[in-house]
Amino acid sequence: MSTRADVVVIGAGIMGVSTAYHLARRRAGRIVVLERDDVCSGSTALASGGIRHQYANRVGIELTLAGIETFERFESEFGVDPSFRQHGYLILVTTEGQLAQAERNVSLQRSLGVEVDLLSPGEVARRFPYLHTEDLRGATWSPRDGYADPYLVTTAIAARARARGVEIHTGHEVIAIERTAGRVSGVATRDARFEAPVVVIATGAWSAAVGRLAGVDIPVAPLRRSKFITAPFPFDRIPETTPFIIDPHQGISVRREGAGLLLGIGRKEEAGSFRTDVDWSLTTPLVERVVHRVPPLADASLLRGWAGLYEMTPDQTGIIGAAPEVAGLHVIAGFSGHGFMHGLVAGQLMSEVILDGRASTVDIAPLALERFARGELSVEPLTFT
Ligand SMILES: Cc1cc2nc3c(=O)[nH]c(=O)nc-3n(C[C@H](O)[C@H](O)[C@H](O)COP(=O)(O)OP(=O)(O)OC[C@H]3O[C@@H](n4cnc5c(N)ncnc54)[C@H](O)[C@@H]3O)c2cc1C
Repeated sequence: MSTRADVVVIGAGIMGVSTAYHLARRRAGRIVVLERDDVCSGSTALASGGIRHQYANRVGIELTLAGIETFERFESEFGVDPSFRQHGYLILVTTEGQLAQAERNVSLQRSLGVEVDLLSPGEVARRFPYLHTEDLRGATWSPRDGYADPYLVTTAIAARARARGVEIHTGHEVIAIERTAGRVSGVATRDARFEAPVVVIATGAWSAAVGRLAGVDIPVAPLRRSKFITAPFPFDRIPETTPFIIDPHQGISVRREGAGLLLGIGRKEEAGSFRTDVDWSLTTPLVERVVHRVPPLADASLLRGWAGLYEMTPDQTGIIGAAPEVAGLHVIAGFSGHGFMHGLVAGQLMSEVILDGRASTVDIAPLALERFARGELSVEPLTFT
């Protein structure tokens, strides 16, 4: 038995449900999403929810500019409060090289209309007195940045997609992508077949393996990233409105998560793998570096940790577009640890490519899959691994 659909989307993380939702809004016919596990059970569920305009490359800035309003009015469109806190992003600058890069970033961001400042160390100390600033050269600060709850956002989009007729089948792992005369013609799970002239690969860190099912090279590799949360910590010592603080030099991040704090750290030399066990050996450097930067946190205690997968591409930038070798096959993946914030607008852009043949909301030429084969790579340095 096989089911006929107009579009099959593989994966129900934010990229998959957003694509399905935007297709349904435009009445693109019968849309089926096939998810191996549950809605929002991959990287999206484990993300910190950060939303920022602060990128070095134009496309990252433009994606946030095009998508931020949807987060700001999320509840009116999706009926769910996404816990969007616009407390800003503060990206610390420690070295001469970072300072020169920060000056270039701020100038490009401002030229595109982003509200962003390069603060001096004195200004950082004045605005955020709980930070150690003596080793800083400054920081970039954008007050419209913030963070939202990825699970609430993604499940709300999925619910709206279902309400518009999208069928989401969980527990359906795609194990084959079928082709007929150079075109995609459908997919198969262990128990079912789905015929469709359009198939979208939205499988995050697993996209390389899913691409191989269709003979398409999708250069996305998994990278483990760890998060830890502290026990409740007093708001009079670290304010509730504290920004999402990134300390790229030390490779850590800090933001409020309710009464506690959410701390992030990666391991620069970590080999790509699908491991998601918590790397407890990171707690020693994490505590040292966090206490250096935020001295009051010497009195905090760690409560728990988790690890998830970034979906890295060679230039640390996502992919949205048609796969050139197989007509009808599309890819939306590889956002390299900053895909939650771009998921909503990325799904809209994917729907434009499918229905109109090209995206019109943002110039997504830098996101084309072909760029890897052409060697046209411009690495996004503001990727915090
Ligand atoms: C610790 C951590 C912190 C992060 N912090 C941020 C942040 O602050 N801001 C931000 O913007 N981004 C952040 N990210 C990145 C963000 O989570 C990802 O970029 C984004 O969630 C990717 O969404 P996705 O839909 O592509 O992937 P996923 O959410 O992983 O969804 C892919 C889905 O595909 C399914 N799948 C895989 N193979 C198959 C198959 N064969 N058949 C059917 N289904 C399949 C999987 O089960 C999964 O549900 C973070 C990531 C991590 C790990």
